[in-house]
Amino acid sequence: MGHRFIPHLSADELAARQLEGLKWTVNHAFENSPAYTRKLRDMGLRPGDVKSLDDLSRLPFTSVEDLREGYPLPLLAVPEEQVVRIHGSSGTTGKRKVMAYTQKDVDTWKHMMARCFEIAGCTPLDRAQICVGYGLWTAGAGFQLGCEHFGAMALPVGPGMLDIQVQILTDLGATVLCSTASMALLMAEEVEKRGLQDRLKLKRGIFGAEPHTPKMRERFEALLGLEDSFDIVGMTELYGPGTGLECPAHDGVHYWADLYILEILDPETLRPVAPGEIGEMVVTSLCKEASPLIRYRTRDLTRLVEGECSCGCSMPRHDKILGRSDDMIIVRGVNVYPGQVAEVLGRFPELSSEYQIVLTRVEGKDYMAVNVERGAKDLSGNDPALAAAVSQALHKALLVSAKVGVLDPGELPRTFAKTRRVLDERQ
Ligand code: AMP
Ligand code: ZN
Repeated sequence: MGHRFIPHLSADELAARQLEGLKWTVNHAFENSPAYTRKLRDMGLRPGDVKSLDDLSRLPFTSVEDLREGYPLPLLAVPEEQVVRIHGSSGTTGKRKVMAYTQKDVDTWKHMMARCFEIAGCTPLDRAQICVGYGLWTAGAGFQLGCEHFGAMALPVGPGMLDIQVQILTDLGATVLCSTASMALLMAEEVEKRGLQDRLKLKRGIFGAEPHTPKMRERFEALLGLEDSFDIVGMTELYGPGTGLECPAHDGVHYWADLYILEILDPETLRPVAPGEIGEMVVTSLCKEASPLIRYRTRDLTRLVEGECSCGCSMPRHDKILGRSDDMIIVRGVNVYPGQVAEVLGRFPELSSEYQIVLTRVEGKDYMAVNVERGAKDLSGNDPALAAAVSQALHKALLVSAKVGVLDPGELPRTFAKTRRVLDERQ
């Protein structure tokens, strides 16, 4: 496969690069980042102790608490004159995560994103409408860097602003849509409302930043007339979007194992899960200068996909992100993941892809309500029966009762960022 941005590496070549990068990272962190010097010393480790990739398991973990402790510039491992930029996470809970970048870090990220455009099958003649947040958030900057470096035309609209979005979509004939899954749905519904489907030139979607269901994806693919779409993963801590992309074979997400090591660990024991089992993604950067990551616990859950991919890309794969370990809600002592709710709802063709979970507490008892929407073509007369059927299916899958409310199509809130699906009103 003639990839320009993605190297084709044998397993041995990849391992050699990983070892070199791991040695460099541990050495760099130990020498230059007081937070890591302390951490490594506490474990009785010195830089020269990393001799093989197996030594990774002896290294200490880094957690989101370490980032908070070091706020505003956690883990910093370069003098300030080398920092050329900072970015911050969406920061919906707790302190915002702020990460620093050197010019080399920005360049690595740019390259990573260019790989994503390459794997999605884009060409320099593509026009990518970038409908994600610019500024503190990494998304806009990442897509912009990668698109230009790849050589396609960036149409940097940002999120929201539906009038401008449809104008640029139609007037400039965007061929690639880059957005969150929620924004893709919002755009798709807007295009349908305005009857503009025939005027679009879109072929591909690169969407991510949040979990999505097959139903949600089918809907925006159909309404936007996409030939194909690709789930993009990433996080502020590891540069930003573009740490991996689903490929045209749609059998997992290729991730850049020459730039970071991915471990899938049991979140309780912190030991590797059996091959193919679900666990927490733990990442170690291999060439990150300003804020290196050693065994950073992402809290994201996924599993490795074994074997070679039919698309010809030699980079390894993980499954899509199945949720976060901190997404879990406890209702009357029962653990519930929003993804489980989504899965149950997916079985009802009468429902749209959208849902909202509302938790309340009355006289010390927890109550869960799940609000769903009827699909556009389904009649409201059937709502009570539908609510009862959904409630029963939820109870069977989750072992908790849920009061199901069936709403009109489009009644649940739409957003151009990440959709908040759980409203916990119990505090
Ligand atoms: P942020 O650093 O604010 O961009 O948020 C990064 C987090 O968003 C990740 O740790 C994941 O939990 C989530 N995320 C990013 N991309 C995806 C995706 N494609 N699917 C599901 N969750 C995602
Ligand atoms: Zn592939």
